[in-house]
Amino acid sequence: MTRAEFMEKIASLFATRGGRMYGGEAVTQREHALQGALLAERSGATSADIAAVLLHDVGHLLHNLGDDCADHGIDDRHEELGLRFLAKHLPPEVTEPVRLHVQAKRYLCAADPGYFGTLSPPSVLSLKLQGGPMTPAEVAAFEANPHHRAAVALRKRDDEAKVPNLPTPPFDHYRPHLEACFVG
Ligand code: FE
Repeated sequence: MTRAEFMEKIASLFATRGGRMYGGEAVTQREHALQGALLAERSGATSADIAAVLLHDVGHLLHNLGDDCADHGIDDRHEELGLRFLAKHLPPEVTEPVRLHVQAKRYLCAADPGYFGTLSPPSVLSLKLQGGPMTPAEVAAFEANPHHRAAVALRKRDDEAKVPNLPTPPFDHYRPHLEACFVG
């Protein structure tokens, strides 16, 4: 896929499927992704970090298991679906935080005592399906990944990007960050 084709594919996923609800949250997938990107942009994050949060849940747009599959006990493994799609076109600075963003939740539940209490009810439900808090050995392995800090930063933006009706710039505002990261 060329850069232009990749950008078109992403833009069309957001346009055609971005209106799906974000699990049990009161925002759509598109609102969630754009709020996350806005949080990253406001904190002066790199294009890779902005691209990562914008695309971290793209896996949810690549399947047809339904918005509410976690309510039915199904883990859609969206982080793996997203990774398979993105890894051909984007560098590890983008794809590793995407791949690790679910693990980052499991990590923070083990490593940060105040974190669990900040999770929304749907996020607590999916945590169970995702394996619960990490064991000490898993924590050590996670911290050994050079991208773990970026994954934790993405996770915190992910958790915050659930505000109903919060205005954000449109998808096109973030295109240059995606284009800057494209690696062919
Ligand atoms: Fe998310």
